[in-house]
Amino acid sequence: MKAHLITYGCQMNEYDTHLVESQLVSFGADLVGSVDEADFVLVNTCAVRGKPVDKVRSLLGELRKQKQQRPLVVGMMGCLAQLEEGQRIARKFEVDVLLGPGSLLDIGKALESNERFWSLQFKDELHGHIPPPPTGKLQAHLTIMRGCDHHCTYCIVPTTRGPQVSRHPDDILRELDSLLAAGVQEVTLLGQNVNAYGVDQGAKLAGYPSFADLLRLVGRSGVRRVKFTTSHPMNFTEDVAAAMAETPAVCEFVHLPVQSGSNRVLRRMAREYTREKYLSHIAEIKKHLPHVVLATDIIVGFPGETEEDFQETLSLYDEVGYDSAYMFIYSPRPGTPSYKHFQDLPRELKTERLQRLIVKQKEWSARKNAGKVGTIQELLLRGDAHDAGFLEGHTRGNHPTVVPKALGATGPGIYRARIEHATPHMLYGRLIGQDGQDLPELPRLNPEAAALSSPLQMA
Ligand code: SF4
Repeated sequence: MKAHLITYGCQMNEYDTHLVESQLVSFGADLVGSVDEADFVLVNTCAVRGKPVDKVRSLLGELRKQKQQRPLVVGMMGCLAQLEEGQRIARKFEVDVLLGPGSLLDIGKALESNERFWSLQFKDELHGHIPPPPTGKLQAHLTIMRGCDHHCTYCIVPTTRGPQVSRHPDDILRELDSLLAAGVQEVTLLGQNVNAYGVDQGAKLAGYPSFADLLRLVGRSGVRRVKFTTSHPMNFTEDVAAAMAETPAVCEFVHLPVQSGSNRVLRRMAREYTREKYLSHIAEIKKHLPHVVLATDIIVGFPGETEEDFQETLSLYDEVGYDSAYMFIYSPRPGTPSYKHFQDLPRELKTERLQRLIVKQKEWSARKNAGKVGTIQELLLRGDAHDAGFLEGHTRGNHPTVVPKALGATGPGIYRARIEHATPHMLYGRLIGQDGQDLPELPRLNPEAAALSSPLQMA
């Protein structure tokens, strides 16, 4: 069998795709790079907003046309597959295989079945299962839990991914060892709400470590860099900030979604914290990590959001001073409490507010990035940038960065660089060292030439 997987959505989905691909290979399938080469196409779907759902619909339409011209098995997995909306779509486009986020390891049974195969139970199937490491990669995701026990009113995830289940710490450390053995240097711990690791009933009874202690364990494993996403302010303890400060491999980067700066809107979102509580977490983090790089998620135009509420989001942005942010207009999702109970705001109003927030974000990113000029940053360089002669990668603070290749530094790896130029979206530097070795001096960088080399980064 020749299999091709297409992935929409978040890093959890990317990880799940890798997991299913490794399963398919273990059952003798070949992974191919395009739909045209494949006789089995599996679409890993996202249901967090309307747009990714529309994309899946049009893709399945294309695949159905191909099915009418040649033998082709079509499958759907991920969050949309778990929803009635997704199952209606699957029936309409004659999808053969349907796997919910909790039934991924049923792919084997699906391959054995000669008829339509749908599996949507939430099974604790990951226990003891260690997918093979990605090959030739310096970075890797490492899932530490599944599901979520929060119930934010706009979010479909608790419905699609089920209740929170923390992964056995031995499985996490075994997978980490396999990643390190494969040359991975930066590991990102993944979960819908990583800070809640170990607090679900089963984990507590089994004596799993807290998230802060798991960070310490992972950070002392020999890995060069550790990051984690996504955090929930309700579960972000001061001990997590302390563990970050005392464990050098853990990067001083925190992505802490706030969603809104208005207590009234936070209550309607059922985020379970107030603006004041959120800011006290930020203060704790800054106390332990004075040079922390902060990022967040913000939903603009949540039902009922007034201009005054929105002004509170803008003022909170200034109070925290984020380096970057993912910003979205509210997208009503069937199956969520907010869809059922709240009236959506006009799209023009939501879009207009988003534009104002983007201006705010750009101002802060420009200011923060400008503050990096003249500093020495540790970079993980992934490889060639758009422009020949340049390498691209990111700092410990996730700043996208471009540098000219240097003598002895022509490929991926962890380097030191002096930052010489910055825009709101990119840092430009010059390599000065790698793994403790200094690199030969290079002529000063021409920012204009470099500025042409990289795409803008915006939510
Ligand atoms: S914390 Fe809230 S927004 Fe995040 S996955 Fe859970 S329910 Fe969704």
